[in-house]
Amino acid sequence: MAYLNRSGWVSVSDAAEADVIIINSCGFIESAKQESINAVLAYRNCYPDTKIILAGCLAQRYAQDISLPEADLLFGNRDLSHITEAVSCALKGERTVLIPETPVCPHNPPLTGRPLLSLPGSAYIKISEGCNNRCTFCSIPLIRGDLVSRTVPDVLQECRELLDRGIKELCLIGQDLGSYGTDRAGGQLPELLEALSLLEGTFWVRLLYIHPDRFPLSILELIRQDSRFLPYFDLPFQHGSAAILRAMNRQGTAESYLALLAKIWDILPDATIRSTFLTGFPGETDADFQALLDFQEAAQLDWVGCFTYSREEDTPAYSLKPRVSKAVAAARKARIEEQQTPITEKRMDRFIGRTLEVLVEERFLGDAEAEGLYLGRLACQAPEVDGAAVITSDQELHVGSYIRCRVFARAGFDLEVHPDDAQN
Ligand code: SF4
Repeated sequence: MAYLNRSGWVSVSDAAEADVIIINSCGFIESAKQESINAVLAYRNCYPDTKIILAGCLAQRYAQDISLPEADLLFGNRDLSHITEAVSCALKGERTVLIPETPVCPHNPPLTGRPLLSLPGSAYIKISEGCNNRCTFCSIPLIRGDLVSRTVPDVLQECRELLDRGIKELCLIGQDLGSYGTDRAGGQLPELLEALSLLEGTFWVRLLYIHPDRFPLSILELIRQDSRFLPYFDLPFQHGSAAILRAMNRQGTAESYLALLAKIWDILPDATIRSTFLTGFPGETDADFQALLDFQEAAQLDWVGCFTYSREEDTPAYSLKPRVSKAVAAARKARIEEQQTPITEKRMDRFIGRTLEVLVEERFLGDAEAEGLYLGRLACQAPEVDGAAVITSDQELHVGSYIRCRVFARAGFDLEVHPDDAQN
């Protein structure tokens, strides 16, 4: 969007007014691929005469193989500065595949004034692109390539600019933040956090996705010392069976992952941990699945997302056998979710009665019952994936800013809060 804006293009909220519709796709697992294709078909159906560009990971992964005449042009995920060229080609009626061959290029993003698509107050900052881990189930290295980390000054400059624009929460993302900087000299995650801690002002830094085998323990002390770094970690453990973890090309075991959690909670007792689990990986027996359930029970994580295995061509796990049926994988996923519900509820209950900072994100508009209702997030709630803070307030609140709130109840996975007048 930033590159297009620079060339004079503007985005519109109604596709009927658009000259070009760009669909940013995902190509990571079967369901995401299908969703991306369905989006192209749906837009083609509604807008038969508008140019449609299929952009992003699905286009990159299947550039040569995909047969989708509903899209006028394919554009990959490498050097995004070519997007203006792609739009010009599409408008000229050139039905072409434009996948720049350069490696993923996070070094030269349009740093200033990029449009933000997140809710007010929060922004994602991609600090690296690609991944050198080779988890056998994962197609991301095929799509995104090897790890390429941005430099510390580059990330710092972008964070500074976002803070100047009023952003209150910097969500650092990459395929694995623990590997950040290991592809070059000049600073890894601890050095980046040290540099960020020198910035002035009130803001949150949230670290999303750290491979548990690559967790840099030295960041715990930094996070303890600077309360602007949220004690929130997204550690995709994936499994609790040693055999399955090995087959996934992961070095950890349930024991080493529980030891990591103990270290985190020793230094940051209030830390919130999110994880993802994968059921139905080839060879997963009932005993392996029981090991995952046991790990889940022992770990007592705040948030867990569970996915069923998707068999992706060109990944090492593609040819592994015996395969687990989709029905068994789905039943195991349901069992994980069932076991997690009371754990998450209990973990969230620890916040009841406490006064904490909330980032106000949205106001409910419309009916009278919604009067004075807002949605926000606490430190324990990452954008989009976790529960929310439901705020009731007599006073007008400013979206995109913090307010001290008292947590008085839990509703499902959400927390109900009131502004704490004594502290605001
Ligand atoms: S660390 Fe994540 S992105 Fe990298 S290969 Fe493993 S699952 Fe894929």
